[in-house]
Amino acid sequence: MIVGVPKEIKSDEYRVAMLPVGVEELTQAGHKVLVEAGAGQGSGLADAQYEAAGATIAADVADIWAQADLVVKVKEPMPSEWPRIRPGQTLFTYFHFAADEALTRAVIASGATAIAYETLRDARGALPLLTPMSEVAGRMSIQQGAKFLERPQEGRGILLSGVPGVAPAEVAILGGGVVGSNAAKVAAGMGANVKILDVNLDRLRYLDDIMPPNVTTLYSDRHTIREAVEAADLVIGAVLVVGARAPRLVRRVDLPRMKPGAVIVDVAIDQGGCIETSRPTTHHAPTYVVDGVVHYCVTNMPGAVGRTSTYALCNVTLPYVLQLANQGWRAVAERDAGVAAGVNVHAGRVTNQAVATTFGLPF
Ligand code: NAD
Repeated sequence: MIVGVPKEIKSDEYRVAMLPVGVEELTQAGHKVLVEAGAGQGSGLADAQYEAAGATIAADVADIWAQADLVVKVKEPMPSEWPRIRPGQTLFTYFHFAADEALTRAVIASGATAIAYETLRDARGALPLLTPMSEVAGRMSIQQGAKFLERPQEGRGILLSGVPGVAPAEVAILGGGVVGSNAAKVAAGMGANVKILDVNLDRLRYLDDIMPPNVTTLYSDRHTIREAVEAADLVIGAVLVVGARAPRLVRRVDLPRMKPGAVIVDVAIDQGGCIETSRPTTHHAPTYVVDGVVHYCVTNMPGAVGRTSTYALCNVTLPYVLQLANQGWRAVAERDAGVAAGVNVHAGRVTNQAVATTFGLPF
């Protein structure tokens, strides 16, 4: 099979869909891998590294789209890529179809098979290709929060760890899932006093067992949220209600009761945000201030740490890429219901109920 790896062209996107080790494994399995020149640049991976692993470097991306049976990407195809998609081709990438009707219709019209990272499930029913990006965003949320707590960044001028004789920062984390637990781990490691709030008591029991003593678990209700947020120097929004808009746990009326210069990092912004005053921002203009509280609401946080994110993503995608290349998507999907759940569009039809329902398309 010919496997194609185009360079990502979405703005602020520095990841690449395959590492040189992926090229090596595919070529050893008898496949040909076409990598666009410069595809790994944003992640610090040179063309020569891909070539040494057995890739053919394509100067013109048109050659990749024209020849590849399987195209592996990171972000959804951009409008300039839509006309290049061929009938019978398999695309393996993040699509987020439900957020983009034009993209959905373009992929339907292409006649290609679209396997979406975000809906593919593992044997436990979890979403294995989303987890690493939540790990990155969770850990990064504390790094960003620490930075914006600095006075020149409009924050309170607080060092997360404190120093001997001066108390550390108070961190409140709303949601103790993948993002929340990774944020807690980093904040606790830096010496902050951390509270994790969640509605899932089993999850809180687990976190209580594994977290260090400077992490407290709290059941998330209106009162504990208000108290934790009022006491916090840094608030991390990390809730998820699957398939729904994030619940607005912190309201506008709560902001004047917060400490001036406190920072909110609303990681859940990609699902609408869990703070009433959150609105999407970018890496170029990441923050704004409402009622004296700094808001950081970047929707694609992992993009800023492209190298780490590329490795984290490719670690989980490569086993699937190998299966798709070795057996073809149909054989893999017939055997593995989790991969079948990743197939969103095939041969001109939507094959994912949620996407079909969103746009009133036949399913
Ligand atoms: P997750 O499912 O692992 O965890 C979500 C947690 O929220 C669960 O433990 C759930 O019980 C809890 N929760 C639900 N309702 C709650 C409530 N009312 N109060 C407190 N907790 C509540 O999800 P995750 O992987 O941690 O992702 C969290 C969010 O971060 C998602 O919206 C995800 O899309 C987003 N995310 C954003 C970026 C970014 O770049 N901004 C990157 C990765 C993930």
